[in-house]
Amino acid sequence: MILKLLLVIAVISIVYFMFIKKKPSVTKSSKKKSEEASEMVECTTCGVFVELNETILSNAKYYCSKECLAKAK
Ligand SMILES: [Zn+2]
Repeated sequence: MILKLLLVIAVISIVYFMFIKKKPSVTKSSKKKSEEASEMVECTTCGVFVELNETILSNAKYYCSKECLAKAK
C-alpha cells in the first residue's frame, strides 16, 4: 500500500514539475504585454488618443496639444 502511494506521488510530482517548467515562458510573455501597454486617453477636441503623460489636463478634460486646449476655450 505504502509503495503504491509513493509511486503515485512520484508520478504526480514528475507531471507537476513538467508543467511548472513549461509555465514560466507563458507568464513572462504576459508580463511583457502589460509593461508595454501605456494608458491612452482621448483628446476632448479632436478625439485623437494620446499617452496620458503627454496630455494637457484642463478642467478635468484631456487635450493632445495646446492648440486643442485653445480651441476648447
Ligand atoms: Zn487634440
